[in-house]
Amino acid sequence: MFPGYPIHSITNGVHAMTWTAPSFQKLFDTHLPDWRRDQLSLRYAVSIPTSDIWAAHVEAKRTLVEHVNREANAGFDREVLTIGFARRFAAYKRAGMIFQDLARLKQIVRAAGPIQIVFAGKAHPHDREGKDLIAHIHEMRDALHGSINVAYLTNYDMEVAKMFCAGVDVWLNTPLPPLEASGTSGMKAAMNGVPSLSVLDGWWIEGHLEGVTGWSIGDRVEACMEPGGGMDSFHAAALYDKLEQKVLPCFYKDRERFIEIMRQAIALNGGFFNTQRMMAQYLHDAYRLGQSPVVQPGSA
Ligand SMILES: *Cc1c(COP(=O)(O)O)cnc(C)c1O
Repeated sequence: MFPGYPIHSITNGVHAMTWTAPSFQKLFDTHLPDWRRDQLSLRYAVSIPTSDIWAAHVEAKRTLVEHVNREANAGFDREVLTIGFARRFAAYKRAGMIFQDLARLKQIVRAAGPIQIVFAGKAHPHDREGKDLIAHIHEMRDALHGSINVAYLTNYDMEVAKMFCAGVDVWLNTPLPPLEASGTSGMKAAMNGVPSLSVLDGWWIEGHLEGVTGWSIGDRVEACMEPGGGMDSFHAAALYDKLEQKVLPCFYKDRERFIEIMRQAIALNGGFFNTQRMMAQYLHDAYRLGQSPVVQPGSA
C-alpha cells in the first residue's frame, strides 16, 4: 500500500491502573511502590513472594466467582480451575473451540481434574455468525450440565472485563491466525498474573514463553496452512493436549510452579504490554523526539 516507505510497528499496551484489580493494586503498592508512576517497576514482581501473589489472586477469584454465581446462578467453585473467555463474539475468535469434542473434554477432566468455564461477550447486532456462536455456547453449557460447569454472562463491558481478566485462572484465546491484529484482554490478564492459553497470533507471538508466561495452542507452523476446516480441528486438538498434559497438572499438582508462571506473567508481560511503554515507543520510534522524523513530510 505504501511502496518505498519502511513500515515499523509498535505493539499495543493496556492502561495498568485501569486493568489491575484492587487486590493486585494493593499487592503492587506494597512491594513495588513506584509502579503507578513507572510501570517498568512491574519487572521487579519477580521478587514478590508467591504466597502474596496467590492471596491477591484468591481475592480476585472470589469476587468473580461470587459475581458469576449471583448473575448466572452457575454454582461455580472457588477451588476449581477457572477458564475465562470474554471478547466480542466475532467468528474469527472461535469462541466455541473448547467444545469441539465434548467426549474428549470430559475425559480430560476425569483424568486431570475439574474445570469450569466462564464466557462473556456481545456480537454486533448485524453479525449473524457472532450471534449463532453465543447460542452455541448456551447449547454447550446445557449439554455439559452435570459434568463441566459453564456460565455465560450477559452485558459484557469494562467492569465485567476487569473482573474476568483478574479473577480467572487461565485466559483462553483462540483466534484464527493471522486475523488477530493484537488482542488486548490477555494483556489485562497478565497485569493480574493470569497466564494465557492461546493460539500464537496477535500479541501472544511476542508475549508467549512456553511454561514461563503461559502456554501456546499449537505452534506457528500452522499459520502456513490454508485457513478453513483443518485449522479448527488442529487447534482444538492442540488445546485439549495442552490442557490435559500441562495446564491442569500444573494447577492441581504443582501449584507453586503455577504461581511462578503467574509471577512471570506480571513481570515479563505486565511490565511490557502497558500503555506507558507503548507511548514511550511512539515518542522514540515514531515521533522521534528531538530528531528528524523517519519520513520527511513531502519526501514521497
Ligand atoms: C479489552 C476489551 C476488549 C478487547 O479484547 P480483545 O482481547 O482485544 O478482543 C473488548 N471489550 C472489552 C469490554 C474489553 O475490556
